Amino acid sequence: MPIVHSMETCTACGAELTPGLDWCGRCLAPRNTAHPAYRGPGAATVHPLDPRVRPKAEPVPVEYSRMRGGPTSMGVLGRSLTTVGVFVLAYLVYVSVFAVGLGFGGLKVLAVYGVLAVPVIAVVLRRVWRPARIR
Ligand SMILES: [Zn+2]
Repeated sequence: MPIVHSMETCTACGAELTPGLDWCGRCLAPRNTAHPAYRGPGAATVHPLDPRVRPKAEPVPVEYSRMRGGPTSMGVLGRSLTTVGVFVLAYLVYVSVFAVGLGFGGLKVLAVYGVLAVPVIAVVLRRVWRPARIR
């Protein structure tokens, strides 16, 4: 009658463990039945939780959108409100910085302000309206 091998193997080096001993006779690693790699006696040498064997990552579908909001981006309503807010803010800055209410204003002042403000507004709005990842 052939001898049936039902001995446990070391989770560290794969050597057969001596029954009754709490450590591996070859590498002296403790017999660790709580270790995530431990699969019980007779388990395959390579198991799913072996950190050296990485499961193939499935491709994640990615979607970008200007109009629809995602977990970290606004939808079309939020972007529209932000756009309105940018122009309101630009107007308030214009009124307060150049004291338009005190009669100081005119086309020249507006032109100077426009040269400074239009690039800033353009950068802000491009960021607001750029397509964002929604999935
Ligand atoms: Zn060992």
